Amino acid sequence: MLDYDLHCHSRISDGTLTPTEVVERAAERGVKVLALTDHDDMEGLDEARAAAVRLGMSFISGVEISVSWRTHTLHIVGLGIDPAYPPLAEGLRSVRSGRGERARKMADELAKAGIGGVLQGAYHFAGNPNMIGRTHFARYLVETGHCKDVKSVFNRYLVKGKPGYVPHQWAVLQDAIAWIRGSGGVAVLAHPGRYMCGRAGMGKKTMRELLAEFVEAGGQAVEVVTGSHTPEQYAEFARYAEEFNLLCSCGSDFHGPGESWRDMGRLPDFPLGCRPVWESWEHPPVLKAA
Ligand code: AMP
Ligand code: MN
Ligand code: MN
Ligand code: MN
Repeated sequence: MLDYDLHCHSRISDGTLTPTEVVERAAERGVKVLALTDHDDMEGLDEARAAAVRLGMSFISGVEISVSWRTHTLHIVGLGIDPAYPPLAEGLRSVRSGRGERARKMADELAKAGIGGVLQGAYHFAGNPNMIGRTHFARYLVETGHCKDVKSVFNRYLVKGKPGYVPHQWAVLQDAIAWIRGSGGVAVLAHPGRYMCGRAGMGKKTMRELLAEFVEAGGQAVEVVTGSHTPEQYAEFARYAEEFNLLCSCGSDFHGPGESWRDMGRLPDFPLGCRPVWESWEHPPVLKAA
């Protein structure tokens, strides 16, 4: 079992727990090295770090950046970033800036489909109004009985071809990687298996083109063990990592108790041959936490 969990969310983006609660839960579940990786926002890092220090846990500053690449939305995790690095902070501000307008359009689309009151309902679930997103809409649709849980919302609403979907332009892949690398962080392609799912998903040829472009732009690692991958996908992306000479990362992608693909920590080991992303860290993270 891995005692690293390098991908999770707090109320600063679309998780349900405060940064302190996330760290406490991780500690209870045996995590020794934790990265908080909220979407497009770094506001939770100071609080999480303070809680981690109090609990004697190693803490890595992280972020998960939304990127538009060709017709796909990708997520790039940055690990060991410096939140004070101006291009990163400014870049994330620009990524966040379209969310309010997008949310209004999403609510309009859902109203056309006969579901009203969604905008106010979704904001009610947003711990950080700047980061209003599809998960908050999904929680409202569950609360009002339109779907049984958050996951099933994404089968019927808010995705391409379904009510409430609004296309959006996120960051450019090369920019997101440059912000992360420039701030001293490692750029990780998050949950790649998810980009290959469904009718709109990419095929193997496109995945290879993405990985080549990611490496060319300075990307260094790929998530192999993540909450939304099957064991077959652990093996598949371990092979891609070898082919593209990438380090391997692992994280639960936890969003909240009872809501996520999997809870924090207790992640299964990497397939044989994977080089963990922490091999690239100059200092053991325990020293970074001090
Ligand atoms: P947004 O950044 O507003 O487009 O929201 C994206 C978020 O929606 C992701 O970070 C997930 O938390 C959530 N999400 C997307 N697809 C699914 C899914 N199939 N099941 C559960 N949550 C999902
Ligand atoms: Mn999310
Ligand atoms: Mn993601
Ligand atoms: Mn995530």
